[in-house]
Amino acid sequence: MLVSVIVPCFNESAVIDETWKTLSKVMGEDAGRRNYDYELIFVDDGSSDDTLARLKRAAHACSQIRYISFSRNFGKESAMIAGLEYAGGDCVVIMDADLQHPPQMIPEMITYYQEGYDQVIAKRNRKGDKKRATLMARLYYKVVNHIVDVKMVDGVGDFRLLSRKAVNALLSMREYNRFSKGLFSWIGFKEKILEYENQQRAAGETKWSFKRLLSYGIDGLISFNNNCVS
Ligand code: UDP
Ligand code: MG
Repeated sequence: MLVSVIVPCFNESAVIDETWKTLSKVMGEDAGRRNYDYELIFVDDGSSDDTLARLKRAAHACSQIRYISFSRNFGKESAMIAGLEYAGGDCVVIMDADLQHPPQMIPEMITYYQEGYDQVIAKRNRKGDKKRATLMARLYYKVVNHIVDVKMVDGVGDFRLLSRKAVNALLSMREYNRFSKGLFSWIGFKEKILEYENQQRAAGETKWSFKRLLSYGIDGLISFNNNCVS
């Protein structure tokens, strides 16, 4: 069995070394114990800091690490799809570069995959988040779930394991402007949700400005809504 882990990275210089070292340790130990192969695919989304240089050094130091480098910043959605296209795994895990998605959960995700689940989804609570952000999110999901044709769950994001079957289903959808939160839900398959404690970024800053968040929210509303065209 080959497990691929995809990590989109944009200006993550402050944290990327800690991330690849932690991820390598967790995966190395688990792969040794359970006898599987793994590859760690870092996608540099046009960083302007030295993230790419650090990834090159990491790939040199660790034979399971590979990297993809974009010519400019295309956004996390593009980084994820490039990773999915490149990944050769029987199952694929997608996680953030800032350790907000604890790598320590991956072994448990793999266990559920081996039990037959096609999507093992990590769901965070909102502990430590600003009250206003939590309320806005709650309202957003209430409104969106009334309007769109897929179910979107607060706290559920891109941190998940996908079976090869699920990856191929995602890759068969050639949307240009992708809204993965909706696509993951749209493809279906047997799902398992694992809850985890909200984590703050290990270092560096969020890439989400209010403008970017608003535009993402609007994408979510229109991408999976047939009512707009009828
Ligand atoms: N990211 C990316 N391209 C972008 C913005 C973000 O690849 O244009 C990556 C980023 O490096 C991180 C993940 O997407 O690994 C989530 O970004 P961030 O932590 O800023 O989002 P938040 O956790 O604050 O929602
Ligand atoms: Mg983050």
